[in-house]
Amino acid sequence: MSAFLYLRRAYPPARMFYLTAVADNAAGMTVQKTVLTLFEVGSMHCPFCGDHETKVVDSRLVAEGQQVRRRRECMSCHERYTTYETAELLMPKVIKADGSRQPFDEDKLRGGIQRALEKRPVSVEDIESCISRIKHRLRATGERELASRMFGEEVMRELRKLDEVAYVRFASVYRSFRT
Ligand SMILES: [Zn+2]
Repeated sequence: MSAFLYLRRAYPPARMFYLTAVADNAAGMTVQKTVLTLFEVGSMHCPFCGDHETKVVDSRLVAEGQQVRRRRECMSCHERYTTYETAELLMPKVIKADGSRQPFDEDKLRGGIQRALEKRPVSVEDIESCISRIKHRLRATGERELASRMFGEEVMRELRKLDEVAYVRFASVYRSFRT
């Protein structure tokens, strides 16, 4: 009696893998059975129909080279959609005023910036570049945790360059929280 598992690649579609179990049955015959169907890591599922056969029709760097924007087309329903790819690098944790530590929350940072920029003539692209620069500088400190004040100051520094109105809005809300 012998049994083993192996990974088998499908042809076609070549992006699929199967985890297959092989064993001898009671009659001494070798049988195999697929125990798991896997999609290759990196294959995208179409948000419209769920199909995983997509083709990249355009690819370019955005947010000062920190992101790859890919225009994709589904091979099944032919809808097009966009994905953004960013390298996941560890950000320092946030030390709150009460001394507690929280993981860095990019959505929260983006939310704060967007609120300050409400109805201001600033593009999404500029906001993303600004978030990239803030993250880059905070990571470049090499610290594993930083006071929340540092995060606020980096946002103010960026908003000051980006839009004076947004800077004043953010600074007034930020300072009222801190006093
Ligand atoms: Zn589709």
